[in-house]
Amino acid sequence: MAIAQIALAVPLRRLFDYRIPEGMTCQVGMRVSVPFGRQKLVGFIVNIAEHSEYPENKLKSVLTCYDLQPLMNSAQMAMLNWLCQYYLCPPGEVFINLLPKKLKQGDPAQLVEEPVWQLSLNAQASVPNRAKQQLALFEYLKQQGCQAESLLKQAGFSKQIINQLEKKQLIKPLDILSQPAKPLNIHPSPYQLHPQQQDAISAVESHVGFKAFLLEGVTGSGKTEVYMQLMAKVLAEGKQVLILVPEIGLTPQTLKRFQQRFDCGIAILHSELNDSERHNAWLKASKGLAPIILGTRSAVLVPTPNLGMIILDEEHDASYKQQDGLRYNARDVAIKRAASEKCPIILGSATPSLETLNNAQQGRFVHLKMLERAQKNPPPKPQILDIKHQPLQAGLAYGVIEAIEHHINQGNQVLVFLNRRGFSPALICHECGWVCQCNRCDQHFTFHKALSQVVCHHCGDIAKPPMQCEECGSTQIIDWGIGTEQLADWFSEKYPQAKPIRIDRDSVRRKGELENKLKAIEQGEHQIMIGTQMLAKGHHFPNLTLTVVVNIDSALYSSDFRAVEKMAQLLVQVSGRAGREEKPGQVILQSHFPEHEYLQTLINSGYPALQQQLLTEREAMHLPPFYYWAILRLEAVKQEKLLSVIELTEQLFSEHIQPNYQNVELLTSMPAPQEKRAGKFRYLMVFQTTQRSMLNAAMRQLILSLEQNSFSQQVRWTLDIDPQELN
Ligand code: ADP
Ligand code: ZN
Ligand code: ZN
Repeated sequence: MAIAQIALAVPLRRLFDYRIPEGMTCQVGMRVSVPFGRQKLVGFIVNIAEHSEYPENKLKSVLTCYDLQPLMNSAQMAMLNWLCQYYLCPPGEVFINLLPKKLKQGDPAQLVEEPVWQLSLNAQASVPNRAKQQLALFEYLKQQGCQAESLLKQAGFSKQIINQLEKKQLIKPLDILSQPAKPLNIHPSPYQLHPQQQDAISAVESHVGFKAFLLEGVTGSGKTEVYMQLMAKVLAEGKQVLILVPEIGLTPQTLKRFQQRFDCGIAILHSELNDSERHNAWLKASKGLAPIILGTRSAVLVPTPNLGMIILDEEHDASYKQQDGLRYNARDVAIKRAASEKCPIILGSATPSLETLNNAQQGRFVHLKMLERAQKNPPPKPQILDIKHQPLQAGLAYGVIEAIEHHINQGNQVLVFLNRRGFSPALICHECGWVCQCNRCDQHFTFHKALSQVVCHHCGDIAKPPMQCEECGSTQIIDWGIGTEQLADWFSEKYPQAKPIRIDRDSVRRKGELENKLKAIEQGEHQIMIGTQMLAKGHHFPNLTLTVVVNIDSALYSSDFRAVEKMAQLLVQVSGRAGREEKPGQVILQSHFPEHEYLQTLINSGYPALQQQLLTEREAMHLPPFYYWAILRLEAVKQEKLLSVIELTEQLFSEHIQPNYQNVELLTSMPAPQEKRAGKFRYLMVFQTTQRSMLNAAMRQLILSLEQNSFSQQVRWTLDIDPQELN
């Protein structure tokens, strides 16, 4: 008898056995429908076995098989199996939930037809000059002849604009509905390569098979050109290239550059696609119809029959780590994937993460450097403004407000940047810069507003927040509670003529909203931009001449040991934002700690020097990347319940798990820096080890025990392997 071992979208960490009825063709990698309780579910065949551990006469049978061919080959199946094992997640999370919605529902694995647009014959009629976007689309189609709707959208034309032109009968859908596959055509590079670009390319091409490369290149050093030249060879051999980028806001610009160079099918994958677009892109990649796959985080898991290279740009970017559900890190998965596909992977960054730098220094990755700019204007050197004892308005010192006014009066743009990464930071004295510290370990206390406590995240000590500074007696103890919204309101009231605009996760929730806002900024409609990390990346604002970093101290004294690294990466990026064209730029950082060692190193010696210093400290303090971490996050409405579950979990760990895995230790159980969210208290249990495989085995056992113990059901818990945030 043949048994199919099937992944189902249920939260259980196991596969389910079903009989394959006589005469039904089922293979690994195909979708089936099966009875599950009273429901009928879509499942994914992960294994086929001859026997089951369960009584075979009780097994139910597969109802139907949806596919004639497997959706994935064995290398891709191996990859997804590894993902389940490594992140200790239910197989359904990986095999079912990662499929595009239509495939998840059991729809056929065929491209969905979409309209291809062309000009109507009576298109002599003209588009009103005021309708700039309609005009642009009209001109675009005139040039292209015809174009599929999804490609028009990628080129920046919304469905609304397409509809408007159709209503005016200026364009119409072509009769043929499926898009013809384009033959590959690679345009030659317009550039003579610089020696550093040439060296990087030769280094990659001298390797055969799998190898990971860190391409450390300052902004403007020509990394993208290196990617494209490397890709050209791989594509010419008939293989596919997977390109990963961090944010969707960046994709239109990057995409345009790739489209101009490579005339071929490009499958684009990101979170703003509609179901049909995602479905088609996934299938084009997995059927080998698209030689180039360009996407954000989740594109790393899209099947490709014939992968020849992976490029992961801005490898340090935090958005590669998924923070809910399946908490994978696309960078780590990409490296694993390149290894199993036996192809090279290029990790590019101007500010590599400490993890990747350490891998390069340990000889696991080849370290390529491009430290000169293709264009020669250096970014401005940041100035630090000491704000101790200064009156602040909306968190801004007088000197900063004056500078902002000066720049907007000149007709330029200003970026006011609020770092929210070091959430819930230290309490500091605004008068003298005293930091509220734990006496036992000389580490700062973290302020927990909702608990009305300060907590030492090193030893777990808890105290009442101080009313007064211990040095100067001042009662001006501050915690940097200001947010982007408050700041934006203040600006709108004070400088309405500068049309301040806020950009952060909350203000660009709707589809296309970020793109529209960025376009408006580029066109000079707003002179003041208030934003978070989102605004720091890759965008090019020619009129931006001043960048203000409102709050750098929350990173210097954050509960998250990565905050300084992230802050430094952001600073390099935001500094690169100001003064890119002829106009010189200015960067101001507000701080209570102008002499802080980290700030001084960064400003005077640069990012690589700071990075080396941080790496040395991490090693001395037994932190990642030298130690491997897993975090068990627990949350509950009642704090007492949470604490009692933590106690039981600690007991479980020390009595039943640690004896078998002595190398793994529970570093601490502590409230999360944001200790209360949506009415629930949140705690973290941090486990660490020097042996990765031990951690995996110990956590597997811990999870199994938690699943079998009823006490753990009183709280919500989730496991995060290689956590990126201590939150
Ligand atoms: P990065 O990706 O490292 O920030 P880019 O690849 O975007 O750098 O290159 C920065 C600018 O320099 C771009 O405008 C690019 O077209 C240009 N450029 C890249 N390589 C060369 C070259 N070899 N000669 C002249 N200009 C170049
Ligand atoms: Zn003081
Ligand atoms: Zn302490």
